[in-house]
Amino acid sequence: MSAIAVIGAGPTGTCLVERICANAPELVGDSVLDIHVVDPHPHGAGRVWRTDQPDLLWANSAAADITIHTDGSVRCEGPIQQGPSLAEWLGCDPGFFAPRPVLSRYLSHAFERAVRTAPRNVRVHAHRAVALDVADLRAGQRLELSDGRWLEVDAMVLAQGHQSVLPSSQEVEQAAFAARRGLAYLPTGYAADLDLDVVPAGKPVLMRGAGLAFIDLMVLLTSGRGGRFTSGADGSLTYLPSGAEPLLHVGSRRGVPYHGKTGYRLSGSPAALPKFFGSDGAERRPLVAKELAYAYYHELFHAHPSRTRLDWAEFEAAFTEAGWGGKEMRALITKAVPRFADRLHLERIEQPLRGIRFGDLAGLQRWMHGYIAADLGRRADPAHSADLAMIHGLLSVHAVLAEAPSDPWFQRLFNFLASGPPARRLAELRALARAGVVTFLGADPRIEQDERAGTWRATSATVPGAVEARALVEARLPPPSVSRSTDPIISALYARGECREAAGLLDVRLPDRRLLGQGGAAHPRRFALGPWVVGGRGTAGFARPGVNAPLFRHADALARSVLGQTAGARLRAAA
Ligand SMILES: Cc1cc2nc3c(=O)[nH]c(=O)nc-3n(C[C@H](O)[C@H](O)[C@H](O)COP(=O)(O)OP(=O)(O)OC[C@H]3O[C@@H](n4cnc5c(N)ncnc54)[C@H](O)[C@@H]3O)c2cc1C
Repeated sequence: MSAIAVIGAGPTGTCLVERICANAPELVGDSVLDIHVVDPHPHGAGRVWRTDQPDLLWANSAAADITIHTDGSVRCEGPIQQGPSLAEWLGCDPGFFAPRPVLSRYLSHAFERAVRTAPRNVRVHAHRAVALDVADLRAGQRLELSDGRWLEVDAMVLAQGHQSVLPSSQEVEQAAFAARRGLAYLPTGYAADLDLDVVPAGKPVLMRGAGLAFIDLMVLLTSGRGGRFTSGADGSLTYLPSGAEPLLHVGSRRGVPYHGKTGYRLSGSPAALPKFFGSDGAERRPLVAKELAYAYYHELFHAHPSRTRLDWAEFEAAFTEAGWGGKEMRALITKAVPRFADRLHLERIEQPLRGIRFGDLAGLQRWMHGYIAADLGRRADPAHSADLAMIHGLLSVHAVLAEAPSDPWFQRLFNFLASGPPARRLAELRALARAGVVTFLGADPRIEQDERAGTWRATSATVPGAVEARALVEARLPPPSVSRSTDPIISALYARGECREAAGLLDVRLPDRRLLGQGGAAHPRRFALGPWVVGGRGTAGFARPGVNAPLFRHADALARSVLGQTAGARLRAAA
C-alpha cells in the first residue's frame, strides 16, 4: 500500500491532488494509494478563498481568466482532464469578477470532482486539521496533525500558500508606539483576517500601500461600513457616506493605485510571444521592455493601422535589430508612429509621479482624479488595445520566469500593470476621492512617529507639508519569510535545520522540488510547491485557460515525482 500527504488544500493543493489521481494509473497501476489532504480550511478553497468572508471581497481576476482544470494547451506528461473555467461553470459574463465566496464554491467543486473521479484504487482522505510536524521513518514520513492523529506516508508535499508571519521589527516598534500613545495600528495581513473595528470612524487613517490589499481594506472600511455608490447618467459613481467610514490617506512607493483590469478582449490574433525574452542570463530590464514594446506595437500596427506610417514587416525587421532605449529605436518609433500619444512611454507608465512635485495636497488630488479617470477610460476603450497586448507580453515573460529566481523589480511591474483591481473598484476609488474619503499622499511616503504630539506624521516626495493621524494601517500582505513564519510545521522544520530560506522563500531543488535542508541536502520524501516556495511563482495567481499555464505543468511534474516515491510505484517499476 502507498500513501501521500498533501499539506494545504487551496488551489495548488487541489491541482496537485487532481494531478496525482490523473497520473496514478500509469505510475502505481492498480495497487492501493491513499492521498491524505490536510487543511483546517474547506478543501478546494483553502484559506484565501474560504466561504466565510464578506461577499464584498472579490477576485481580482475575471471569471474567464480563472481555471483549475487542465486543457489541450497544457504540455505535460500526465493525461489532460478538461473541465470548466470559472466563467463556464457559473455561466456568467467572461468579464465578471466573482465575490470570493462564489469562487470558493467553484474550487470546492473541483476538489470534490477530483475525489469522485479518482481511480478505484485511489482513496482521498480530507483532514480538517493543521499539520504540526513531520519526522523521518525508516521508509517514509510520520506526520503529526492538530486533531491528534498521526499519518504514515511514503512522501509529502507542502502546498501551504501564503502564511502568517511574526511581526517585523518595524511592526513591533509601531505597535509599541501605538500602545504607548493609545493609537490604532494594523500590521500587514489579509483584509478578511484583520480586526478593522480598531480603525476609528470620521478620523484620518494613514494607509501604507495602494495595491490590492489596499483595495480590499478600502472596500471593507467604506461599503463594509454602510456607505453606498450611486451611478450617474454618464456611468460615473458618487459615494454616499454612512458616517462610519474613516478618512483614508493613502501613500505608496509609486503613489498611484495599480492599473485597473481591461474591460474588453483582443479582437485580432495576438503576437507570438515572447519573441526576445529568454530565461538566459542576459540583462533583464531592457529585454522585458523590448518584449512589451513589441507586443504593444504589433497590436497597434495590426488593429489600428491608420495610426502607423510604416509597413509592419519593415517596422518589425528594424525593431528586431535595434537595441531597446537606443537612438535607432527612438528614431524608428518616431517615424513609424506619428502621434506622441500612440507611442509606448514605459518609464512614464512605470513611475507616473517621478519628477512631479505639486504646490499643495489639493493640486496632487486634482492630478490623481485625472490620472484615475484616464486609466478607467483607456482600460475600457478598445482603441487602446495596444495596452492589453502589452499585458499579454508581460504574461509571456511571467511564464518564462515562473521557475527563475524571483526578481522583485519584474514582480512589482507585473503586479502594477497586469494584476490590478476590477475597473469597478477603481471607479469606486475615484468616487471616494471626490467625496474626500480618500486623499492621496503621493510617492515614497515617509511615516514618522511624533512622540510629543502622540501621532504619526506622513510626508512624501510629491507634496510639501504633512498629514497627522492617530491610526496607521500597513495596507499590504506580509512579504514571504520562512524564518518568521508562524506555521507550526515550517517553524519546526526550520528550527531543526530541515528546511532553509532563500530570499524569504522556502528553498527547494529544481526541477524536482525536493525540500532543501540547511546543509543543502535534498530530502527524498519531502516536496514543496506554492507562492512562498522557490520556483513556485506559477502558483501565485490563478491559471488561465488555454495558455499552457505553469501551475499545471509544475503540478503534473511534481505529482509524478511524488508518485515515483511510493511503494506502489517502486513495485511496479521492479516488476
Ligand atoms: C487576499 C488574496 C487575494 C488574492 N486574489 C487573487 C486573485 O484575484 N486572482 C489571482 O489569480 N490570485 C489571487 N491571489 C493569489 C493567490 O495566491 C492564489 O490565487 C492562490 O490562492 C494560491 O493558492 P495556494 O493553494 O498555493 O495557496 P493558498 O490559497 O494560500 O492555500 C494554501 C492552503 O494551505 C493551508 N495550510 C497552510 N499551512 C498549513 C498547515 N501547516 N497544515 C494544513 N494546512 C495548511 C492553508 O490553510 C491554505 O488553505 C490572492 C491572494 C491573496 C492572499
